[in-house]
Amino acid sequence: MSASNPGHPEGVGGGPLVDGPHDPEHDPRASYVLEPEYVATLTERVTATSGTTVPLISPLDGAPLANIPQSSTDDVAEAYRRARIAQAAWAKTPMEQRAAVMLRLHDLLLERMPELLDIITLENGKARKHAYDEVAHTALTARYYARMSGKHLASERRHGVFPVFTRIDINHVPKGVVGIISPWNYPLTMALSDGLPALMAGNAVVAKPDAQTMLTALMGVKLMDEAGFPRDLWQVVAGPGRELGSPMIERSDYICFTGSTATGKLIAKQCAERLIGCSLELGGKNPLLVLRDADIEKAAEGAVRASFSNAGQLCVSAERIFVADQVYDRFVERFVARTKAMTLGATLDWEVDMGPLISGEQLATVTAHVDDAVAKGARVLAGGAARPELAPYFYEPTILEGVSPEMTCFGHETFGPVVSLYRFHDESDAIARANDGEYGLNAAIFSQDGARARAIARQIKCGTVNINEGFGATFGSVAAPMGGMRESGMGRRQGAEGIHRYTETQSVGTQRVLKMTPQLGLNAERHAKLQTLGLKVLNKLGRA
Ligand code: NAD
Repeated sequence: MSASNPGHPEGVGGGPLVDGPHDPEHDPRASYVLEPEYVATLTERVTATSGTTVPLISPLDGAPLANIPQSSTDDVAEAYRRARIAQAAWAKTPMEQRAAVMLRLHDLLLERMPELLDIITLENGKARKHAYDEVAHTALTARYYARMSGKHLASERRHGVFPVFTRIDINHVPKGVVGIISPWNYPLTMALSDGLPALMAGNAVVAKPDAQTMLTALMGVKLMDEAGFPRDLWQVVAGPGRELGSPMIERSDYICFTGSTATGKLIAKQCAERLIGCSLELGGKNPLLVLRDADIEKAAEGAVRASFSNAGQLCVSAERIFVADQVYDRFVERFVARTKAMTLGATLDWEVDMGPLISGEQLATVTAHVDDAVAKGARVLAGGAARPELAPYFYEPTILEGVSPEMTCFGHETFGPVVSLYRFHDESDAIARANDGEYGLNAAIFSQDGARARAIARQIKCGTVNINEGFGATFGSVAAPMGGMRESGMGRRQGAEGIHRYTETQSVGTQRVLKMTPQLGLNAERHAKLQTLGLKVLNKLGRA
């Protein structure tokens, strides 16, 4: 594995985010990678009057990046007050106008790519190519909902109780103000993409991005402002989730949460108390199956990306690989070789295949999972160690063999660059083991027989299944609903489902000519008989 050196941020309009080296003795900004003036253009979007700030550290080198103003409970209340006023006006804005603004956002995301990639990488540490994935995903989402929301939300006519005499219209009306609580791992798309359909449906948003990646989320909001969304329509609050979560849930009409299963359960309970809906995109222990007829080179290449994209800090990342007996040795040889050939680095350059973990906490979890497995007899086929000379929280891409149920990483999500290999003899056994445990987020199947792989997919208890690809086929296809079964979540993002969650379905019935009560001098009995005859006729006609 090779390492490369840090590059230099490009910044606004291609100009530098860093104004050359400062002398630490004379300039207090010297230790900050980003210019405070630049940071201020982002942090001014946080609703915060508390006067307190929290420093943000870059996982590339442990250097401070910025100080983020913190929101109080009063600030949360103020954010919701403003959002409600903005929502009332926005709900009256025609769909075409909303779509035009959304398409401008799409173009801005692409135009400002270098600046976005710098901020994401500086703040999260991920390889630049993985930062690109999420900018592209956000742009795809913006374009999809700009073009499709009118169709998904169009009012429709359905059968009324009395044919001709009862007209039924189904409307999709906005919920109001949606609270979005998002994690740090894909800091742009997780912070923005769930909110875009909420806006298209006529809602306002109050967002609380993770504290470790506030700048990326704020950069996204800045682009939304530039695209022309009303400023108050998207509010940002900053602070610890355990403090701001409850005040948000108390004031929201719907909550969209992405994060751990443990936090998701807390949020679900609080939403239940208020009888508001929520979508929960949670953790996984995702299986990848290599069938005996798989193209081994493609499977090995796919397994590297499935396991180590964003250093495995990806909800849909593969953490368990089940390989058919017949191809096990060949697959393992190619997978290990490809993993060892990865370029590791903490830099802004495109050449890096994997960057550092985001924090000391993540490093501690990954180290604990690997150490526990090794102590209990697992074998390390690649990686298995921290690389502090590359970055403070760097951990090598790691492949384990011989992992058994008493080891923590057997069933618990590591959320890092650690994957376990298992051999299987027959496919029904592989399916059963893939379905083992409480999670059900994403699965991957490698096979040259698409029809057979799709038949197996139906037996896997996961919200998404990718064939001959780790996760990108479904995640990148923003028309495809995405979410978890079992403890991996509730509700779906993307597609029609991803926008309908932000609306209330309203039925409007218009009764014409025929009354619901007896008429034409009929008594109740005759009226009932006539109606019964009508029911029989409708059944004969095959009507629902
Ligand atoms: P986390 O649950 O600790 O934090 C996620 C967000 O919730 C953060 O913004 C945090 O501030 C907030 N939060 C924390 N405690 C809260 C509380 N009590 N009330 C309200 N908000 C609270 O998750 P994490 O460890 O930061 O993120 C990693 C997890 O997220 C992994 O399990 C991963 O699988 C999951 N994830 C899932 C998806 C998906 O689409 N299914 C996507 C990304 C990440």
